[in-house]
Amino acid sequence: MSQQTQPVGETCEITNPFEMVRQRIDAICQRMKVSEVCHLRLRECKRELTVHFPVKMDDGHVKVFTGYRIEHNTTRGPAKGGLRYHPDVTLDDTKAFAALMTLKAAVVNIPYGGAKGAVICDPMNMSQGEVERLTRRYTSEIMLVISPEKDIPAPDVGTNPQVMAWIMDTYSMNVGYSVLGVVTGKPLSIGGTRGRTEATGHGCTIITRLAAKHLGMSVDGATVALQGFGNVGAPAARLLTKEGCRIIGIADWKGGIYNPMGIDVEGAFRHCKETGSVVGFKGTEVITNAELLALPCDILLPAALEDQICASNAASVKARMIIEGANAPTTPEADRILNDNGKFVVPDVLVNAGGVVVSYFEWVQGLQSFFWSEDEVNRQLQNVMDNAFHEVLEVSQREKVDMRAAAYMLAIKRIEEAMMVRGIFP
Ligand code: NAD
Repeated sequence: MSQQTQPVGETCEITNPFEMVRQRIDAICQRMKVSEVCHLRLRECKRELTVHFPVKMDDGHVKVFTGYRIEHNTTRGPAKGGLRYHPDVTLDDTKAFAALMTLKAAVVNIPYGGAKGAVICDPMNMSQGEVERLTRRYTSEIMLVISPEKDIPAPDVGTNPQVMAWIMDTYSMNVGYSVLGVVTGKPLSIGGTRGRTEATGHGCTIITRLAAKHLGMSVDGATVALQGFGNVGAPAARLLTKEGCRIIGIADWKGGIYNPMGIDVEGAFRHCKETGSVVGFKGTEVITNAELLALPCDILLPAALEDQICASNAASVKARMIIEGANAPTTPEADRILNDNGKFVVPDVLVNAGGVVVSYFEWVQGLQSFFWSEDEVNRQLQNVMDNAFHEVLEVSQREKVDMRAAAYMLAIKRIEEAMMVRGIFP
């Protein structure tokens, strides 16, 4: 299980991420004169399921957990989105992430709507057996909304391929046959795809390369500060190192490490596996998360949690470009400050879409029972990310807006088109 918990964002006030996404949707819909019905539908989540369910803990007592499965919009296809296990996750967080998934799928132009699931729990302090029982019971509770045609979960903070395997097994046992396509991010042995584990980090790397090229920078020799060293951050660090980047700072739930000469990423990964954090890795200096965000470097890659770059710390960001690996790491106030300071911010709905794109490939392979080579997966991912980056950049230049506004414009236009052609039932 990935490590997490404990806010180390230090200087950031917690915002309501759903209100934040809504504000951004409002601004774009008004600017683009989007039809009122499309705007109003995008402001709400289509379906919100809250479940409270009992789980037998190892010591014999029964604990009641709360979970959610939110489907924001399904106009362009089945709802798709990750499952988060975290002690602080809220209904509004889950709604915000579901809305971001609708936009993300539209930015990269894959036939999905957006969803997100969450369970308020602390997997770091639960045994494997407890996490398995929680997952199986949660799956049974949300059985009525998930299926390969309706809503397909995937890993997010605090969940991993093993959790996806338990979901797939529980669903399959309930319907009476094996259903590969009900989740993505599964282990290879049960219909997972090659390239999914590192897909989100891979997508971040592709976008970093494209953004650097656009700014006339070279990734070879560029310095990187990375926040978060889990499903997204660790593969991104490995791949960026391969491209010639120097990872000079890494932070996680416990704090950060710094070495201006470059951190040995493989060593830091092993240290993290053994101790649960990168902190204490030999040859590095301890820094705080706030210091990591303010490191003098070329690229800042937030890949941990939301609300990390906000009004109170945005002015201290020195990186030339901010590549949003995490969902909603930057608040709207921070966006304004970063833009005023000439920073190139590439938004979450584009940067971390590699995960959902390869999930889409996994779902397609599962439905066809025909599996691709890793080269094929990576080639197709490269294609999709490349197209999406250039489409967003084109809108940004044409409309004279930042990359986030451009990504929202591209996505909302595609969703509106689909809504108009489908019409309103009945
Ligand atoms: P994860 O649980 O695997 O890793 C999270 C990392 O963040 C860990 O290293 C953890 O120690 C660190 N962290 C937790 N709290 C922190 C804090 N307060 N300050 C600094 N670091 C902290 O999660 P993940 O799957 O890598 O997801 C990271 C982000 O990327 C989330 O915003 C998630 O929604 C987003 N995302 C993930 C995927 C995916 O495929 N897993 C896809 C798209 C977007």
